[in-house]
Amino acid sequence: MKEAKRVIWGLLIGIALGLVLAALPDKTIYEKLNMYALQPIGTIFLNLIKMLVVPIVFFSISLGVMGLGNPKELGRVGGKAIGFFLSTTAVAIIIALGLALLIKPGERGNFQTEGLPKATGEIPDTSIINTIVGMFPTNPITAMAEGNMLQIIVFSVFVGFGITFLGKKAATLRSFIEQGNDLMTYLITLVMKMAPLGAFALIASAVGSLGLKSLQAMFAYMSIVVLSLIVHSLFTYGSAVSLIGKMNPFFFFKKFAPVMMFAFSTSSSNATLPVAMQTAQRELKVPRSVSSFVQPLGATINMDGTAIMQGVATVFIAQVYNVDLTPGQLATVVLTAVLASVGTAGVPGVGLVMLTMVLQSVNLPVEGIALIIGVDRLLDMMRTAVNVTGDAACAVIVAKSEEGNLKDKEVEDERYA
Ligand code: ASP
Repeated sequence: MKEAKRVIWGLLIGIALGLVLAALPDKTIYEKLNMYALQPIGTIFLNLIKMLVVPIVFFSISLGVMGLGNPKELGRVGGKAIGFFLSTTAVAIIIALGLALLIKPGERGNFQTEGLPKATGEIPDTSIINTIVGMFPTNPITAMAEGNMLQIIVFSVFVGFGITFLGKKAATLRSFIEQGNDLMTYLITLVMKMAPLGAFALIASAVGSLGLKSLQAMFAYMSIVVLSLIVHSLFTYGSAVSLIGKMNPFFFFKKFAPVMMFAFSTSSSNATLPVAMQTAQRELKVPRSVSSFVQPLGATINMDGTAIMQGVATVFIAQVYNVDLTPGQLATVVLTAVLASVGTAGVPGVGLVMLTMVLQSVNLPVEGIALIIGVDRLLDMMRTAVNVTGDAACAVIVAKSEEGNLKDKEVEDERYA
């Protein structure tokens, strides 16, 4: 929580500085400060986060697959989990798009779009079949070098599976993956120490250039993201947990609340993973074999909170640029945001990077991200809390449906004391 407080302070001081800079008649002060301090600090912070993404996805997915053991179980539990992940993510985006279209945040702030680039560019191919084919890498090193998340996920599943299959013969590789995962978790914590400073620099830079008006529109955007996050958590997860998982949703949220706070303060599904798994196993009584596969997989591919941000941001940016999204384009947003959230690694700020993919799919200028980057740190905290809750809800549901398959004794043995 201390960490979260510092980030909020960073934001507030950044906003204050940005407002002062925007109010100054002499623009060169802002320009100099931005060029030599704010932008470099903000960029270093974002780069440090991006630096960790590829290894984190690789280690956490391989580890998750290794935890599941035999292929039959992997297929069954994996199928259920992925089905839940994809459908709830689609619901999340639909809620987000609905609210954003209804409340129209982008029409509020009266943004200056003159200086910004125009909405043009090629629409990339987002057909389902090509996306599926494109998930299989010809060269895993290239996939990693290019940061192609879906290809890295597929490769990691193969690696995890191979290590499990080889058993003792691959003992060294098993510890390599385990230690790699520990190392990444540690590095996230280290990089996150810079979060207050990063958030300060990024927001001061954005507010300094766009002024008070931008803040108003940003707050409208922010409130819709927050509203969608709340609706999705209470309605979608609440009903899924009670109807399919047969668990009282109040009990679920009460037990899981500390994990949500932890996710809020770290903005990282991956960093939250150890606490999330422990709570699911101890408090929500999810068997270890289910939890240790479903939750790491979810921390890597299931990001409903992120999808919500991406949906609202796309509509917001379209409204700012006076672009009317057609029903076909909205459907494209749903599809690409599901894929983008699958490809978003559970570390801070990646959702924003993946937003570029969604914007490009409907031909909106990627530069529009500048309008929301300032508040993204705060929203990242909130959406991460929702992301990890979705993974836990899924674990509860899969555990319930697996009750007959995992023998009681086995379940008992696997539980933490
Ligand atoms: N920070 C988010 C998470 O770890 C991902 C994102 O939306 O940037 O779940």
